[in-house]
Parts: sequence; C-alpha cells; structure tokens
Amino acid sequence: MLINATGPWSDRTRAELLSSLRPGAPDPEPVLRPSRGIHLVFPAFTQGHGVLWFARQDGRVLFVIPFGGHALVGTTEVEVASPIAGDALTPSVEEVRYLREELARAFPRTGEMPALAVTSGVRPLIATPGAVGAASREHRVIEEGPMLTVAGGKYTTFRLIARDAVAALRRMLSAVVQRSATRARPCPRRPTRPIRRRSRPRPPVRRSRGASTT
Ligand SMILES: Cc1cc2nc3c(=O)[nH]c(=O)nc-3n(C[C@H](O)[C@H](O)[C@H](O)COP(=O)(O)OP(=O)(O)OC[C@H]3O[C@@H](n4cnc5c(N)ncnc54)[C@H](O)[C@@H]3O)c2cc1C
Repeated sequence: MLINATGPWSDRTRAELLSSLRPGAPDPEPVLRPSRGIHLVFPAFTQGHGVLWFARQDGRVLFVIPFGGHALVGTTEVEVASPIAGDALTPSVEEVRYLREELARAFPRTGEMPALAVTSGVRPLIATPGAVGAASREHRVIEEGPMLTVAGGKYTTFRLIARDAVAALRRMLSAVVQRSATRARPCPRRPTRPIRRRSRPRPPVRRSRGASTT
C-alpha cells in the first residue's frame, strides 16, 4: 500500500507512481486546480494587532498578522497548472504590486517601506469549474490500485482528511487496519476544563412563514 500525501504535488506524484506501477498506461487526469498565494514580510507596524480588510480591486479579504516580531501581509490567489511546473512558486510582479497597493491604501505609511521578504506557497485545491478564488476547499481520497491519494483540504481539516484516509485504507485492506479514532479523540491542546453548556434553554426562535433557514 502506498499513501500519496504530497499536497499540491499530488497529481505529479500520482502520475509518476502510476507510470511505474503500470508502465505505458496514460497519465491520470489531474484532480487538482492549485493556486499560488504569496505573502510579504514587513517590519512590525500594527503594534502587535492583527488586521483584516477588503481589497479595493477585487474585494478579497487581506490581512496583516504579527509574525515573529514582524508583520505578515497576505495573500494572493493565482491559478497554476497541475502537475506543478518548476516556476509555479515564483511570485509575479503583479502579485507583489497588488499586495503593496492594497496595503498602502489601508496603511499609507507602508507605501515607502521596503518588504523584508516574500513567501510563496501553492494551495492544493480540488479542480472545480468557476473562478479559482471560489474553488472548493474540500478534500478527496482517491483509490488507484495499491495507491491512495489524499488531495485538497486545509490545515484546519486535517483530522477529517486523516479519518477519511483511514476509512479508505480499511476498505482496501479489508479491515485489517483499526477504525479511525478521530471522532472520539479530542484535539490536542484542547481547553483543560470542559466547555459548559448553557444552563438556561434558549428561547424558541420564531420564524415567519416562508422565511429562509439558510
Ligand atoms: C497561500 C496559502 C494560504 C493558505 N491558507 C490556509 C488557511 O487559511 N487555512 C488553512 O487551514 N490552510 C491554509 N493553507 C494550507 C493549504 O490550503 C493546504 O491545506 C496545505 O498546504 C496542504 O497540506 P498538505 O500536507 O496536503 O501539503 P503540503 O503541506 O504541501 O505537504 C506536502 C509535502 O509533500 C512533499 N513532497 C512533494 N513531492 C514529494 C515526493 N515526490 N516525495 C516525497 N515528498 C514529496 C513536499 O515537500 C511537502 O513537504 C494555505 C496554503 C497556502 C499555500
């Protein structure tokens, strides 16, 4: 059994591994539609505060967060092809300009401030139609012969991803693997005291006829 958990490189790894498992077979269809996001690092300028605001140019949510004594400003969303090519992680001039312009609108004195660093990463988004910014952040577990690929998802959904991967492994190995304990096991570093439920029941919510519940 092989578990491919190579994030944005999942399609490339799938293609490479499947070609060695099934020589001559065509490359599998990519399941990802990755997007690059860059961040700029500045000297701290928000006195330790995190700030969120909306970009004027496209309405995206931008942020400044304290980052090891500095300020991290992000981010962008630019589609890149999958399998990922060598230059996919290179930040473009437009991305840097976009972040700098939007930052200077919100914090005019950063206009003259040189960025200390630029970071770049690629999000492993599942391929869906429509704008890449609205692409699904869901994950998929793909079974291909003796290989299982975990694709998509977010840091915040890693437990769900692991649970689904273990369930797929159990199917593939006919339950030799133990059932995932994720549902019963709290997150590490959870609050030490249990969260108390409200003692008084909430008043019933009155809904007018035909009111939407979504
Ligand atoms: C710009 C940006 C913003 C994000 N924002 C959020 C957010 O707001 N909230 C959130 O929860 N998550 C966020 N994420 C996280 C992201 O969406 C993914 O969930 C996360 O990066 C995927 O984790 P992963 O373990 O699947 O892949 P990765 O963390 O990329 O790990 C894949 C690993 O596989 C290795 N690898 C690749 N090829 C091979 C190979 N052939 N052999 C061996 N190893 C290999 C790589 O070196 C890497 O270590 C963000 C990511 C980016 C880039």
